[in-house]
Amino acid sequence: MADEFDLFVIGGGSAGVRLARIAAGHGARVGIAEARFWGGTCVNVGCVPKKFMVMAAEYGLGADDAVGFGWSIERGAHDWARFIAAKDVEIARLNRAYTGLLERAGAQMFEGYARFIDAHTLAIGERRVRAARIAIATGGLPTRLDFPGAALAIVSDDAFHLPARPERVVLIGSGYIAVEFAGIFAGLGAQVEQVFRQDLPLRGFDPDLRMGVADALAANGVLLRPSVTPMRLEAHGTMKKLFLSDGTSLEADCVFMATGRSPHVAGLNLAAAGVVVGPSGAIPINAHYATNIPHIYALGDVTDRLNLTPVATAEGHALADTLFGGRARSVSLAGVPSAVFSIPPLASVGISEDQAPAGTRVFVAQFTPMRHNLSGRARRSLMKLLVDPVTDRVLGAHMLGEDAPEIIQGLAVAMMAGATKGDFDRTIGIHPTVAEEFVTMRTQTRVVGG
Ligand code: NDP
Repeated sequence: MADEFDLFVIGGGSAGVRLARIAAGHGARVGIAEARFWGGTCVNVGCVPKKFMVMAAEYGLGADDAVGFGWSIERGAHDWARFIAAKDVEIARLNRAYTGLLERAGAQMFEGYARFIDAHTLAIGERRVRAARIAIATGGLPTRLDFPGAALAIVSDDAFHLPARPERVVLIGSGYIAVEFAGIFAGLGAQVEQVFRQDLPLRGFDPDLRMGVADALAANGVLLRPSVTPMRLEAHGTMKKLFLSDGTSLEADCVFMATGRSPHVAGLNLAAAGVVVGPSGAIPINAHYATNIPHIYALGDVTDRLNLTPVATAEGHALADTLFGGRARSVSLAGVPSAVFSIPPLASVGISEDQAPAGTRVFVAQFTPMRHNLSGRARRSLMKLLVDPVTDRVLGAHMLGEDAPEIIQGLAVAMMAGATKGDFDRTIGIHPTVAEEFVTMRTQTRVVGG
């Protein structure tokens, strides 16, 4: 049987949609299958609805802050159902935007799980398709810890359609998702406790940011329970009881497990195509996204390297250009900025202080942002630069505070271009902003290892 498609993409998320759209734009005959929702995790149960939830929480806090500026505002009640409905209308619009993009590009869309029959053939329901090349872009799924009663906890997929905003929430974990939802639920008025095994949240981030975010969570009323692990979860009517490794227990109406995500490979029948899977379920790839089977590719979260939407979309674009655009390229994972949409948010690019070589110059500024001198809210901003003592290159930039992701995005460009501390110093600030602090840090705070 002749190949019906030049490329078949499994998964209509950030990586898959970009790959299919650009490949079709290059003239390839492209098919794409999506089993759950177009746009994938980011659009449906990730970045986008999460950011709306952060905004919803921030409006409540903003109402409190406005009083210090002369407004007579009372927060009133938050209507969870109305908010979720409004959010869903926008998500549905985005779903349509994604399918519209694919349609206009000329990609053929299939709704259903795709399963390998052999290395060139896929089954989607009753339908069989053959393709010269196949790309696996199935993303990841939230993982649950393995302890008795773990299934009683919700995971991030569930958090976007809860029937009501929980009154008492226990979050398990202190990665991106736990920290973000702690801010969301606390901001919306819930009583929140966060249980995690490290001494500070956000392992892997700069130590000053980790301390700063712990303070920010506490300032938002989140009760932090560091250095413990959950052992057992029980349901008592609508109430849940979580037993911890230190012998204590917590009660809540919602226990939210945010303990990582794992590659979504179940049901693909990869063995039929001979595609090798690593021990964690991630699909190993070479520098050009090829699996061990040269015409089968994998990209985005299913490869479990740097699980961020902009990385996945960039990889999709690069693979399409490589295969059909006459421009072989791959995406560098060096210098990728990232943000955690805590309240306030934090963002980082480059190395953290604990990754910095001895001798690295450290500049730290901590202050109360202008707004909170009047709002009275106990909220501090933290900004930090790590500088190579020999080349003067800025090796890391970190910020916790309002607009941190917006500010760090700009600094990431400067750092990609090789900016030195001298370049930062001769840049004139925009006054009065928080961002100007990054170009006015004159006094070195310390030297790594000094
Ligand atoms: P993370 O990997 O960020 O965090 C997982 C958390 O679970 C950590 O606190 C980890 O602890 C804890 N954990 C893991 N295993 C255990 C265990 N056996 N016992 C106790 N605790 C455990 O995962 P998330 O679920 O928060 O998010 C998944 C991924 O999605 C992120 O890594 C990121 O790539 C992406 N994401 C990105 C966002 C953004 O860009 N803003 C937002 C949300 C998600 P420890 O640190 O000790 O390992």
